[in-house]
Amino acid sequence: MNTVKKIRLGNFELFFLRNGSFWLDGGGCFGIVPKIIWRKLVYADELNRVKLDSNSLLIRTDEHNILIDPGLGNKYSEKQKKIFRIENKPSIDQSLSELGITSDDIDIVIATHLHFDHIGAFTKYDNQSDIQGDRNIVPTFPNAIHYIQKGEWQEAISPNERTKGTYFITNYMPLMDAGLVKLIEGNQEICPGISVEITGGHTKYHQIVFIKSQANIAVYLGDIMPTANHIKVAYTTGFDLYPVEVMRKKRELYQRAIDENWIVCLDHDSRNCAGYIRQTPDAKNYTFQPYEFT
Ligand SMILES: [Zn+2]
Repeated sequence: MNTVKKIRLGNFELFFLRNGSFWLDGGGCFGIVPKIIWRKLVYADELNRVKLDSNSLLIRTDEHNILIDPGLGNKYSEKQKKIFRIENKPSIDQSLSELGITSDDIDIVIATHLHFDHIGAFTKYDNQSDIQGDRNIVPTFPNAIHYIQKGEWQEAISPNERTKGTYFITNYMPLMDAGLVKLIEGNQEICPGISVEITGGHTKYHQIVFIKSQANIAVYLGDIMPTANHIKVAYTTGFDLYPVEVMRKKRELYQRAIDENWIVCLDHDSRNCAGYIRQTPDAKNYTFQPYEFT
């Protein structure tokens, strides 16, 4: 079964991996937008939750296999699975196997931020461990350097009362112990054609990833615009720590996306994982034009 969508971007290949899904409270997903409005955009289940996909992006260059935000992973308790209606299917390993590669072939991993829905799959339970006793947690991508903003790392290792439900230390500390983390500070190039830019907003050091090849540009927006339903500038989520910053950054990024015809990649959209930002004919609003996969 071929579920992985692909775009060729200049010399690079972009693969959109859908690594399972989870359900979050609809009010949390749409922040200040009343349900009477957002219920027209998306289905809510009997507990008022809406479905979010966990979309990763794999970039294959001549030199590297680069993975952005590998997704939820499977280290969840029964209680967590129930609260978030977590479905880890297909897993990141299943998605990669469709492309004929394994997690050992990934040599660069980039995190937009360290919330569990984005990087829970950084680590996994060791197959060897005794299922009855303590289970060892090991890196999922043992041959990869994991690029994480230093500020995000610091926030994640000392969460506060509000953020502790999103930062789980077992998702990232084993990587540091294994020497697989590179903490970066500010905007920078990761390898030729791949760079990161701090946006702030969702978290203080949230970053987005630029992919450039032969004058083509794709940008993985992380949680600045998680789904196409969040295209409106004021449609920020209840999980954004700095919603006014998200709005300011959206306006700026939308203009750049239009001027440079970016393919924008969406991390949580169930229907559209990629597309273009367009302006409405009256130039007062923005719309999302889905990418037409062939
Ligand atoms: Zn997210």
